[in-house]
Amino acid sequence: MLLEYPADFHIHTCLSPCASDEMTPINILNMAKVMGTKILGICDHNSAGNINAMLNMAQDYDILVIPGIEVQSIEEVHLLCLFESEDQVFKLQEYIYSALPPVNNNPRLFGHQWLVDGIGNILGEENRMLLTSTFLTVDEIAQKVHELQGLLIPAHVDKKHFSIIGQLGFIPENLKVDAVEFSKTTTKANFEATFDNINEYTLITSSDAHCLEDMVYQKTFFLLKSLNFKEIVMALKGLEGRKVLIKD
Ligand SMILES: [Zn+2]
Ligand SMILES: [Zn+2]
Repeated sequence: MLLEYPADFHIHTCLSPCASDEMTPINILNMAKVMGTKILGICDHNSAGNINAMLNMAQDYDILVIPGIEVQSIEEVHLLCLFESEDQVFKLQEYIYSALPPVNNNPRLFGHQWLVDGIGNILGEENRMLLTSTFLTVDEIAQKVHELQGLLIPAHVDKKHFSIIGQLGFIPENLKVDAVEFSKTTTKANFEATFDNINEYTLITSSDAHCLEDMVYQKTFFLLKSLNFKEIVMALKGLEGRKVLIKD
């Protein structure tokens, strides 16, 4: 029997300088529990620094946490890169870190980049400036993500800035994407009416939460046989009855 699992693939923790300090693993998981959200993609800007704490904390919850990174390409395109395991996301992090400009974050200007444990104790602060473009092209990021068996989802593509359509003008035909994300500022009907042939892609919509209140947004549902990454991949491909539903 297939069941519907509410999903939010795009959530920032307190590691992202632009996110609220309240975005600790325990707070994110408790908020998801209140909302009934069963699948959480954790995607900080250019880093997976809080993924380990998030996954450890999630063991106490009936929620699937998908480790990810929101990578910013050299074209200033935001890409959600999601993986089955911590191991894979750390391999991507290594690749991203080697392609970040050698600049330190200025917390007073951009915000803190807290590394925390599951209950939000501060373990340290990431010094690299995360809120910036890597030296990697969209194609290079896509290639690496797929080499690591991950999912590549262009983020908030309806936005004018930091989106693939906003920056490039289109989604390159040869780019292998696993889904396309539209932002909470539009609806599925509007999105489909604005962008020609966008229905050729599997669509999702996410909160892009930077504070807990942002997580009050539940429109993407996965129809799955059980709650795991392989089932999610099947749903994104529309295989054997698994699918993604968007309820506006
Ligand atoms: Zn973004
Ligand atoms: Zn984001």
